[in-house]
Amino acid sequence: MRIFNTLTRQKEDFVPLVAGRVSIYCCGPTVYDYIHLGNARPLVVFDVLRRHLESCGLDVRFVQNVTDIEDKIIRRAEEEGVGHEVITARYHAAYHEDAAALGVRLPDSEPRATAAIPGIISMIERLIEAGHAYVAGDGVYYSTASFPDYGRLSGYDLERLEEDSGGRQVSSEQKREPADFALWKLQKPGEPGWPSPWGSGRPGWHIECSAMVLSELGATIDIHCGGQDLIFPHHENEIAQSVAANAEPLARYWMHNGYVNVDQAKMSKSLGNFFTVRDLLERFSGMELRFFILSGHYRSPINFSTELLEAAAHGWERITTCVRNVNFVLAREAGVAEAAVSAASREVFAAARGAFTAALDDDLNTADALAAVFDLVRELNSLAARPVPPAADLAAGLETLLELLAILGLDAEEEKTGSGPPQEILDLLEARQAARAARNWAEADRLRDMITAAGWKIEDTPRGAQVYRA
Ligand SMILES: [Zn+2]
Repeated sequence: MRIFNTLTRQKEDFVPLVAGRVSIYCCGPTVYDYIHLGNARPLVVFDVLRRHLESCGLDVRFVQNVTDIEDKIIRRAEEEGVGHEVITARYHAAYHEDAAALGVRLPDSEPRATAAIPGIISMIERLIEAGHAYVAGDGVYYSTASFPDYGRLSGYDLERLEEDSGGRQVSSEQKREPADFALWKLQKPGEPGWPSPWGSGRPGWHIECSAMVLSELGATIDIHCGGQDLIFPHHENEIAQSVAANAEPLARYWMHNGYVNVDQAKMSKSLGNFFTVRDLLERFSGMELRFFILSGHYRSPINFSTELLEAAAHGWERITTCVRNVNFVLAREAGVAEAAVSAASREVFAAARGAFTAALDDDLNTADALAAVFDLVRELNSLAARPVPPAADLAAGLETLLELLAILGLDAEEEKTGSGPPQEILDLLEARQAARAARNWAEADRLRDMITAAGWKIEDTPRGAQVYRA
């Protein structure tokens, strides 16, 4: 596989540190509110990275943290007059629900900041000892001037940062340089705090990830990923902390996904132009949202609009319709003597699989991988439409299709079994068939209306009626 590495700004061959194994750390959410579609993009994209590497036979360990102590959480808890644990428990659970609806697997480990305090404190102690951090009146800060490589990932230089922040302006923080950042924030009245050698307080956001990478995966990991907005300052700061504390590189490959834009502006809480996954799930299925996210390359921005989401939903429907039709034909053909898969079909299926894998191997090009899926869908549709559909070919092609969809985390299986029509609908369907056979059209229409009213849709095909959720 080739991966575009933000650190070197080029595509590189992916070679894991330990043969056969891959360690991935992905920055997770701050649990103070519901996630929006922009937050969902890295979840989906890097879930596919994980699945693709696993499908290549690699043993992947995927860690994603949860920030459960932070300014925004404290503010929200104050607004609601509850403890910070109430806020984080609520939105952590909501985050799991939304991720599950999008088909995102849980990480192998999901460390929380408040449970990682001892590791954070010991890393800060080492940074102070080595002269990379200093104690100030309101906490402990990282000294960016002590780390010559600062800015290498983002291309940011300290002088520019100083200009951007208005030079040495008066800050409420008692740090030495504008680019310095807090490792430990001393407790203010009304804020939660944990004991530390510098007084009761809480960790800064950046040190949390450095400490968790070390405790969960070791000093150097294979892939560190997250949204493009985390390159600076978050990932730059993670590198400065980890390299200074461990004297080893933090990650060999850095992957960053592009923004979800609304009218050319990044979807974000602060701009107020966001759509929560929760709200979108009332109008679209989780798989439709996932398909939408995967329809573009992860590094490109994607534009959000209801029209584009509807177009994606239509694309996903072409796939689920194909799965349903093929299953229907196969069910009808059950009992027909099993023939061998034709050489022609075998070739088409192998070509689709080859194109699919090549696309994901090329810096996780999910858009091209979906094009290969549609090649397979077209082939299956044409096989299913033959006067005598070749059952063995259809079964083999469907198996390939479902395998490829599973690597993308797209679940078309529910079309096959899970949410099939209940018995009373099947009974109505049978009665309608009988009415049609008897040319009793009024009765057939009445039964069809009953089925429709129950939320099911009938499609009459040359091989009989199919029923599925409207
Ligand atoms: Zn992080």
